Amino acid sequence: MPLVTLRSVLRASLKGNYAVGSFNFFGLENVQGIIKGAANLKAPVIVQASPGAVKHMGEKAICGMVAGLADESGVPVVLHLDHATDYDFICRCIDNGFTSVMIDASRKSLHENIDITSRVVDYASRRGVSVEAELGKVGGSEEEIKVEDKDAYFTNPEDVVTFVKATGIDALAIAVGTIHGFYKSEPKLDFNRIAAIRSLSDIPLVLHGGTGIPDYDLTRAISLGVNKINVGTELWLVGYGNTLKKYASMMPDNSDPRKVMEQVREACMHIVEEKITVFGSVGKA
Ligand SMILES: [Zn+2]
Repeated sequence: MPLVTLRSVLRASLKGNYAVGSFNFFGLENVQGIIKGAANLKAPVIVQASPGAVKHMGEKAICGMVAGLADESGVPVVLHLDHATDYDFICRCIDNGFTSVMIDASRKSLHENIDITSRVVDYASRRGVSVEAELGKVGGSEEEIKVEDKDAYFTNPEDVVTFVKATGIDALAIAVGTIHGFYKSEPKLDFNRIAAIRSLSDIPLVLHGGTGIPDYDLTRAISLGVNKINVGTELWLVGYGNTLKKYASMMPDNSDPRKVMEQVREACMHIVEEKITVFGSVGKA
């Protein structure tokens, strides 16, 4: 089927009390594995490219590639731009066929965040594209966005109501104790905060930094109202990087590199299947 919007898959997950997995990719076999994993479990899926990944592959190539894979998959696939900060770049991705974009102005003041997010929503909604924004600061590093522990702060539930009303976004990323990258100590999620935000607003909620959070914490977060969970680090480091290193080093001379890339595809597929099962979206396509 054709690519779908974030709004359409999250509306359903909000009603059904499950989360849709959002997985970062940087190349063909990588995204093939993600979509194949979702198709195997008849689950909706979000594939997301960071600005760095978009620059690596080119926005036209990404849109053509993912639209083709979605067509053949038989499950709803959203093509999402992750953590973009530049308005013109976001518009270019929308023009080329992304069905969802994230504007990350979380480092700015609430007022400035509302201002740029509203402008993105205005451009995107006229073209039938969904928008995710962020309130509070998720710690860790995500490409050029680095947030020191001391600078990370949690989402204020009161701001959510103001922000959602003022911007008209389709999904909101919240900072509740998760970080980007690997956790140095056991992650402590602020479940009361998730519940408080959910009690004030019915906006679909997004949890960033899904790698390394125990399954029972994810299940609890979903039961309290999280609808989209981002998984990046585990896919690029374990699924892609480690698999590539392992099989490439085992390759005999003059052998076919596709054999290595097939292993990357399989590894990514398995990670995605595990996550989708925890997220509760099996059979929700
Ligand atoms: Zn993120």
